[in-house]
Amino acid sequence: MNVIDSVERKDCCGCSACVQICPEGCLEMKADRHSFCFPELTDRSCLDCGLCQRVCPVLEKDGEFVEPQEVYAVRNLREQVRMKSSSGGVFAFLAGRVLDEGGVVFAARFDSEWRVVHDCTERAEDLPRFMGSKYVQSDIGDCFTRARDYLKNGRRVLFVGTPCQIKALRLFLNKPYDKLTTVDFVCHGVPSPSVWRKYLEDVVKKNGMTLEDIQDITFRNKDVSWRRYSVMIRAKDRTIVREDLYHNAYLRGFLKNLYLRPSCHDCHARNFSSLSDITVCDFWGVDNYHAQIDDNKGVSAVFVHNPSLLDVLKDEQMMLLKTDFRKVYAANTSISLSAKKHAKREEYLDNFSDRNFERYIKRFIRKSFSKRVKRVVRRAVAVLRKPKAVRRK
Ligand SMILES: Cc1cc2nc3c(=O)[nH]c(=O)nc-3n(C[C@H](O)[C@H](O)[C@H](O)COP(=O)(O)OP(=O)(O)OC[C@H]3O[C@@H](n4cnc5c(N)ncnc54)[C@H](O)[C@@H]3O)c2cc1C
Repeated sequence: MNVIDSVERKDCCGCSACVQICPEGCLEMKADRHSFCFPELTDRSCLDCGLCQRVCPVLEKDGEFVEPQEVYAVRNLREQVRMKSSSGGVFAFLAGRVLDEGGVVFAARFDSEWRVVHDCTERAEDLPRFMGSKYVQSDIGDCFTRARDYLKNGRRVLFVGTPCQIKALRLFLNKPYDKLTTVDFVCHGVPSPSVWRKYLEDVVKKNGMTLEDIQDITFRNKDVSWRRYSVMIRAKDRTIVREDLYHNAYLRGFLKNLYLRPSCHDCHARNFSSLSDITVCDFWGVDNYHAQIDDNKGVSAVFVHNPSLLDVLKDEQMMLLKTDFRKVYAANTSISLSAKKHAKREEYLDNFSDRNFERYIKRFIRKSFSKRVKRVVRRAVAVLRKPKAVRRK
């Protein structure tokens, strides 16, 4: 038996730990038509060693849920760094510390064709490329193997990824390393790389550009607002295409769960089961509890699972406020619940590739007639209930 016999395709999270652990090269990652990668057998014969099953994050039995002991609202005090980060700039701070100590940072960046890939760096000047959320599944390549090599050579390593990637890394390494720090984030799910490609090709064409003209892409531009963040594409000639999350077709489809990886709808790594050292997320609702730290430019919530990291975070560059686990948990459903599949996900994925991205997606993300009617009624009732202005005599 190997992992392909024991894990259903719909459950595979594409972490590639099985491929990287196989001593005989019996497995390789192959992309399906939506560019989600799955392990497949090569022509080499399997020794039945069972390693591929041992490292599979889907096959690991769920442990007991352990509530993180320490939870903090966190903000990086270097404004430029925080503005380039998706929420409070925790990743950039930790990465900087690891590089200062001569370590290596593994995280996700765009490649030269605007695909999202995992890679590592030893140089501070590369960090901006790794900062910021990229709402596309990253191709992890052979990063687990490379991280293990660095650790075996005594180097400090910071590894950042989705909860399933971090869970897979732990199983792949199979033993604790003092010099390893793992960071995952609360994850809504990872979208299809093909859908991302199609969106990008259509949006550059609409704006009279080509992919080669792009200088920079961010999914979480916060110039106007952290809460109302925007996708921003900046061209080399300084043309800017920017749309906020209520108007950007790609973000709307992502948030409506139209093109997430199938396994994201039944995530086996939620609720902190990756056993990362810390988990980071947007602290939505922070204004209700700690208004003093909120300026609508980004606050992270940090769940500390490994107390030694708290000493690192307690730095003059960081603002930390202790908070209550329940406050963050309640406002961020992605911690405990998998994204519910869009009812027409399959129909969309079967047909999007030869349609106009923006026009076609509207059919799937438009609110239903009854929801639109309810909204109009709600607004009308609110207007009628509004207290009338008191007339001065
Ligand atoms: C696909 C995805 C879904 C998310 N869903 C939620 C959510 O539902 N709720 C929530 O509160 N937060 C979510 N986040 C996390 C959030 O957007 C921030 O990344 C997080 O709060 C850390 O912010 P930061 O400012 O400290 O770091 P940032 O500078 O934003 O750094 C983010 C880190 O994540 C890495 N990364 C970026 N994209 C990917 C990717 N596709 N795969 C693996 N690693 C990646 C980067 O390389 C970097 O190390 C999600 C992030 C991603 C990538």
